[in-house]
Amino acid sequence: MDQQRLTATVSGDQITISRGTSEVLGIDMESRSVGHWPDGETWEVLAVLPAKLSSDKEESPAEDDETVLCGFCQRQCSARTAHLYQGGWVGDECCWDERLRSSD
Ligand SMILES: [Zn+2]
Repeated sequence: MDQQRLTATVSGDQITISRGTSEVLGIDMESRSVGHWPDGETWEVLAVLPAKLSSDKEESPAEDDETVLCGFCQRQCSARTAHLYQGGWVGDECCWDERLRSSD
């Protein structure tokens, strides 16, 4: 019965999935590929993962009609006019004032 048990082992950038004592499937995160070892030695790639999975999503500037959370009053404010202040948003219509503007 134990022969059918699946296990997954993480080693560095590789994940090896084994059934019992034989390795059946591997995921190589460095080359973003899923593969197996048909003869126990050769790495045969079955699929290549999309690049999207491994890249960090970049913060993009807010677009029109979007709202962001004002870091001061926690209200939704227009992303178009909001100001980026110390890593957070400050709503132009609610909390942005001359004092903050001068430190911009
Ligand atoms: Zn505010």
